[in-house]
Amino acid sequence: MTISNRPVRDRQDYDGASPFPGAGEHTPAGRAQIGLTGAIVVLPFVALGVAIFLAWGHGVELADLLLAAAFYVVTGLGVTVGFHRLLTHGSFTARPRLRVVLAVAGSMGFQGNVIDWVAVHRRHHAFTDRPGDPHSPYRYGTGLRGQLRGLAHAHLGWMFADDQTPAERYAPDLLADPAMIKVARAFPALCALSLALPFLAGWAITGTLYGGLTAFLWAGLIRVALLQHVTWSVNSLCHVVGSRPFKTRRHDRATNLWPLALLSFGESWHNGHHSEPSCARHGLDRGQLDPSAGMIRLFERLGWASDVRWPDHDRIQSRRTDNPGPQQDAVLDG
Ligand SMILES: [Zn+2]
Ligand SMILES: [Zn+2]
Repeated sequence: MTISNRPVRDRQDYDGASPFPGAGEHTPAGRAQIGLTGAIVVLPFVALGVAIFLAWGHGVELADLLLAAAFYVVTGLGVTVGFHRLLTHGSFTARPRLRVVLAVAGSMGFQGNVIDWVAVHRRHHAFTDRPGDPHSPYRYGTGLRGQLRGLAHAHLGWMFADDQTPAERYAPDLLADPAMIKVARAFPALCALSLALPFLAGWAITGTLYGGLTAFLWAGLIRVALLQHVTWSVNSLCHVVGSRPFKTRRHDRATNLWPLALLSFGESWHNGHHSEPSCARHGLDRGQLDPSAGMIRLFERLGWASDVRWPDHDRIQSRRTDNPGPQQDAVLDG
């Protein structure tokens, strides 16, 4: 791998190592977007501090942890199974009601409205790790400083930049779906609900307002923060650290990162995913834990999901980087 910080002139000129054209120029987003994004990113962190302070010497109530786990699983699968595998990649067809339920659950994950989320993620696949990718850790080049700066950008810096992804271009199917438009418009209300429900549940379980507040902290804010950072780690770490057993498109450096498999519900098998984006299972190898794929399997058995794109054994074999087969679109210089 060559390390160069010579800026490339345009997209076609990209060599896989230099900073992206215009990477150094900063166009911050408007004040409203920065304020809103800042609140969404910083508030859960402040809550973490408060929660640690409150828990110091007292421990955490089991009810709060169980509630947090329940909300984490529901909203997390809403993002991975709903936003990602169903709505972005069409890995299966869901009954209309399940489709809406998944879109609602994902919206409660505080990661943007469903239509914008899908548009940004499709753009990420269209331009992975090359100019045009909304959140590539290679934006500032592959030198050490550029790489660290790129990781911060891919994790959360990209949300503060003025770099709109037009939904008309990347998610016309969702814009033509009245149910998805309704869910997208309800995003702020669903975020509020995502915090109100744990509060009400904690209040009901303990019978005290204080119980409601600690549930709001743990199962509301801290649960949101954890899911956000796990999702963002797939954007940042899962393009830099880990293994690359499968061929991906030129410049695409997606990796498999096993320590995040369970918390990310299988999404950290990101190299497998970038190799076969529409496949319903991201953990393509034996023993690769993929709870999202398990959930899709369950929906299929219940008759709620059909046309599931399960991995095709021969195709997967042909996509291996150690297989010299006919497909030579791999990039192994990462
Ligand atoms: Zn990716
Ligand atoms: Zn994807």
